[in-house]
Amino acid sequence: PQRYTTVVLGAGGVGKSALVMRYGKNVFLDQYDPTIEEEYEVTVELEGKRSHLEIIDTAGVEQFTGINESYIQRGLGFVLVFSLTQEATLKELDHIRQQIYRIKGGEDVPIVVVGTKMDLTGEREVSSQAMQELAVRWNLPFYETSAKRGWHVSEVFNDLLSRMRKR
Ligand code: GDP
Ligand code: MG
Repeated sequence: PQRYTTVVLGAGGVGKSALVMRYGKNVFLDQYDPTIEEEYEVTVELEGKRSHLEIIDTAGVEQFTGINESYIQRGLGFVLVFSLTQEATLKELDHIRQQIYRIKGGEDVPIVVVGTKMDLTGEREVSSQAMQELAVRWNLPFYETSAKRGWHVSEVFNDLLSRMRKR
């Protein structure tokens, strides 16, 4: 099976590791070391075809470092993660998105945008409508997920995989 390198980017604490762990291992951890950068190999069966996703869980993008630049060079597809409970983390994705387009030399790059912590309804700062508007402006698919509850997590990676297969 073909292998697709997928890079998960977003601010610290938004739930990147929780999302990847839910997808790859079907567990939810309340605490996970924010400094750990891990790579996971997940075998996926989608539309009758098997693929390997090599998922790189990065440690955060507070500074746009050379490390992130080299991950972007390695990645074929990208999961851009923000927290639905922190609007500022969505704003930060605009910069990351532009860096990806710069490094990849164009906008024909498989990207999905993921809002996390959908279960924390009382703390929500980003509305579905705001997401839909941004999805149109950025021309990217947006998802609302909860790694804690396991909501819509595999949809994210399945959508990205089918976009990567079409590249
Ligand atoms: P990262 O720094 O982006 O990798 O964030 P983590 O995955 O380490 O998550 C940061 C914190 O948010 C941890 O305490 C997680 O348990 C919590 N968290 C992550 N995803 C969710 C979620 O879907 N729901 C809730 N309630 N908490 C979450
Ligand atoms: Mg993490």
